[in-house]
Amino acid sequence: AAAPAPNFLRTIVENDVAAGTHRREGLPDVITRFPPEPNGYLHIGHAKSICLNFGLARDYNGRCHLRFDDTNPAREEQEFVDSIKDSVQWLGFSWGEHLHYASDYFEQLYEMAEFLIKEGKAYVDSQSAEEMAANRGNFGTPGTNSRYRNRPVEESLQIFRDMKAGKYKDGEHVLRAKMSEDAMASPIMSNRDPALYRIRHAHHHRTGDAWCIYPMYDYTHPISDALENITHSICTLEFQDHRPFYDWLVDTLGAAGFFRKPVPRQYEFARLNLTYIVTSKRKLRQMVEEGIVDGWDDPRLPTLVGMRRRGFTPEAIQMMSERTGVTKSDGWIDFGVLEGCVREDLDPKAPRGIAVLRPLKLIIDNFPEGEAHECSSPVHPHHPELGNRTFPITKELWIEEEDFMEVPTKGYFRFTPPVDGQPGARVRLKYGYVVECTGYDKDADGKVTAVHVNYFPDSKSGTEGANNYKVKGNIHWVSASHALEAEVRLYDRLFTDAMPDAGGKDFKEFLNPKALEVVTGYLEPGLANAKPEERFQFERHGYFVADRHDTQPGKPVFNRIVTLKDSWQK
Ligand code: ATP
Ligand code: MG
Ligand code: MG
Repeated sequence: AAAPAPNFLRTIVENDVAAGTHRREGLPDVITRFPPEPNGYLHIGHAKSICLNFGLARDYNGRCHLRFDDTNPAREEQEFVDSIKDSVQWLGFSWGEHLHYASDYFEQLYEMAEFLIKEGKAYVDSQSAEEMAANRGNFGTPGTNSRYRNRPVEESLQIFRDMKAGKYKDGEHVLRAKMSEDAMASPIMSNRDPALYRIRHAHHHRTGDAWCIYPMYDYTHPISDALENITHSICTLEFQDHRPFYDWLVDTLGAAGFFRKPVPRQYEFARLNLTYIVTSKRKLRQMVEEGIVDGWDDPRLPTLVGMRRRGFTPEAIQMMSERTGVTKSDGWIDFGVLEGCVREDLDPKAPRGIAVLRPLKLIIDNFPEGEAHECSSPVHPHHPELGNRTFPITKELWIEEEDFMEVPTKGYFRFTPPVDGQPGARVRLKYGYVVECTGYDKDADGKVTAVHVNYFPDSKSGTEGANNYKVKGNIHWVSASHALEAEVRLYDRLFTDAMPDAGGKDFKEFLNPKALEVVTGYLEPGLANAKPEERFQFERHGYFVADRHDTQPGKPVFNRIVTLKDSWQK
């Protein structure tokens, strides 16, 4: 693989490694983490963060932890934990021994909260939620101190212990930080006495009913990083304003000896925004629940389970992630970049196959009845070591509907009938014979039902005689009596608009009605053996994968991953 492109995060990590900034006995110099909340399925945006964090760890001999940020009891479920683990592994990464849960730190988080109270750096606020919101102020307007802000340390400590003991109802009290005396006037909103703990009488998917107070994300995350000896805590730009609190928390607790030093530092990068998709969990859920798509792993969705089922490769996703770089300013990446990576990854490795997707009968009138002549073609044009595939040519074949034109347009070199004493077009049946069109059949509605041709027995591909025929058209086909009939799902982009949910637009107005078309294809007989998740290039059509759930032995179902060329009409 090519050396990774430089970016500002790599530069930071490289400099830190060179300077020994994070050198600690018995630990790698680079420890990163991917910290999903287990409240949904991962999507392509998460993949960017996974590739970045695990990629840095890989490239600098470090390690990357998978940590579930499971501090919100109501929304989290084991189903999501399992799916997230599966997707990270599928992308090609391993957390080794380092699978962690923020909920494993609940005891330590609690102990540190008591410490902060005792130090006068946290207090229990008993304002109502409305008062608290009103007193927070706005951007540009200072907030107002809570009347509980200076309550005695002993009082805060007692209430906090009683909160933990279950003596209060949800919302009665909140533990808040006091970063400084005038923190409520800070121009940075997230410095204004951020909440550390709240009361939630809720069952947690791992700790059960042991707790009725739960730590907030902004409190839990820096502490989890520090406890795990993370060196570089990488997050998206919207957390930039949270950095002062992050630093204050790990520095304050670090100075008190809670963590091994040096403590971690946070770095922000611009999130990945891809066109023609939506990634908001709420909107994805809405599409699943309203039946707009068939579940979380619908191949049209940008969830990693969906993209896997569609046939996208982990290598292509990694390539896209690398290629789109790491920046400090938000922007949009065209979906075509990802599709290009898929083609680039699959072209050199996908075995070739033939599929007729819009079938039209072709009859070779002078072909001996009942005979089958073997044709062969390489499994992959650039990998002779993979050998050849063989398939028979017979009197009746399937060709693509679009490979015949009754009245040809200019520059059309496929099948056209004889006119005005001129013979019909000569075309090569790829890997088979050259044939000449002699006529065609139509039904009562004027629809063409069959094309008639004669073949030249000495024109077979791979024989001497083949060179005597110069033809411009070269088309694919399958023998009608040998073809494998298979369901083929032709997927395309889910939306017709590049930014379907930008600026308050209703994404449902931009659903692409052609995002899925199901056809019955006639396939090269050898494709009957395709295994779930095996990928092919079907000549002239694109890249396809045998559906990982619906493919049965001898009975594959194929999904189109991407067409051969970018044919998207903007
Ligand atoms: P949502 O807002 O849809 O709930 P989230 O980002 O809050 O998504 P998390 O589970 O908290 O979901 O995300 C885990 C990690 O993935 C975070 O570190 C987050 O920054 C990162 N991440 C999420 N979306 C993107 C994106 N589009 N580009 C890069 N990183 C992302
Ligand atoms: Mg989230
Ligand atoms: Mg989040």
